[in-house]
Amino acid sequence: MQQKSSENGAELVERDRQVLWHPYSSVLQPSPLFAVKRAEGVRIQLQDGRWLLDGMSSWWSAMHGYNHPVLNRALQQQAEQFAHVMFGGLTHEPATRLGEQLVQITPAGLSRVFLCDSGSVSVEVAMKMAAQYWQAKGVQGKHRFLSLKRGYHGDTWAAMSVCDPDTGMHHLFRGMLAQQFFVESPSCRFGDDWNPASIEPLQQTLQQHAHEIAALILEPVVQGTGGMRFYHPQWLAEARRLCDQHGVLLIADEIATGFGRTGKLFGCEWAGISPDILCLGKTLAAGYMTLAATLCTDEIATGICSAEPGLFMHGPTFMANPLACAVASASIDLLQETGWQANVQRIQVGLEGHLSGIADQPGVADVRVLGAIGVIEMQQPVDMNRLQPALVEQGVWVRPFGKLVYLMPPYIMQNDDLQQLCQGTMAAISQQAL
Ligand SMILES: *Cc1c(COP(=O)(O)O)cnc(C)c1O
Repeated sequence: MQQKSSENGAELVERDRQVLWHPYSSVLQPSPLFAVKRAEGVRIQLQDGRWLLDGMSSWWSAMHGYNHPVLNRALQQQAEQFAHVMFGGLTHEPATRLGEQLVQITPAGLSRVFLCDSGSVSVEVAMKMAAQYWQAKGVQGKHRFLSLKRGYHGDTWAAMSVCDPDTGMHHLFRGMLAQQFFVESPSCRFGDDWNPASIEPLQQTLQQHAHEIAALILEPVVQGTGGMRFYHPQWLAEARRLCDQHGVLLIADEIATGFGRTGKLFGCEWAGISPDILCLGKTLAAGYMTLAATLCTDEIATGICSAEPGLFMHGPTFMANPLACAVASASIDLLQETGWQANVQRIQVGLEGHLSGIADQPGVADVRVLGAIGVIEMQQPVDMNRLQPALVEQGVWVRPFGKLVYLMPPYIMQNDDLQQLCQGTMAAISQQAL
């Protein structure tokens, strides 16, 4: 077949529309689509030559920005050795080194690393670990999971069952998804005075149903895709205490919060807790490759392997992909060398300063900032078909969903670019309000 030129962005979009699906999209009423030529630092260049400031880090992942020389080199060097070998019966330096780094930097007690393909898969693995653990212990009846309303844990089948029942669209799959327990999203916000009443719904559910529940799964401190809500760290501390008290495991899904985004290296650190099982993804390989990890304690790992069948029953084909592991390893080194904490702090201050002006504007319900996450919550869902092109016109790449226009730039974004990103975003919102 003749190779078609893709120099023209409009033509590329047209070809795409003939054959591809996009995330959460309709093939009948497609939304605006922009063709990318290259990406560099904190900017993405479109086919027509325009450069856009990146406010998304490609869905929480590209924390060091694009086309980073150190990460490029790690990838190239590994590619010259070998791109992939199966992980059954074989091992290699990139995976082993990454495992050592993860055990060292994650909350205390997490000593065993299971590498897998994507965030959703790491959630499946975590749920399977919890189920196998109780089975191995001879504890009967713990067949369900407990989750928070407004939670988001991925799009695969089991992960979907623990997503918010409304925004996770359980009604589309009624009768097909496993029925889980849900408690109210923590009502006590980050930064407010601690309100002990906010933990009562969790306490009650555990009191009634702990004997049926294998694990509580939650996103520490920041509920991401389910509403970009920041909740009080004391809620997380209490949740840890209640899980212990009731014999329920705690799974921390840090796929979005991991690696510094909230101002701590891991969201769990805000509450000084360790989960029994931890999920990492997105930022793990710095937006270069798809890679995720599920970590667990020695108690879980040895527990699972101490009873029939004596194995953990999961093994993805591309487990511990060496290219992805090599980039992830280099990314963790880079994070530590480049002083992520000062950068995230600086971005937090910048976001607070620049976004405060829009809080009183018509149509804006709330503005909140935590770490390198800035959220403008509108009163009504935004019209993406109008707002997305308006944002691009302003020279920024920001992808709102529902009522939420949010910014999470790469940590390396400098102050003048950050100001431009915020101003461009606010200008596009204001135009839409007219
Ligand atoms: C994105 C996300 C997932 C799913 O990860 P994928 O790599 O998209 O499968 C799960 N949990 C949280 C908290 C996420 O933000």
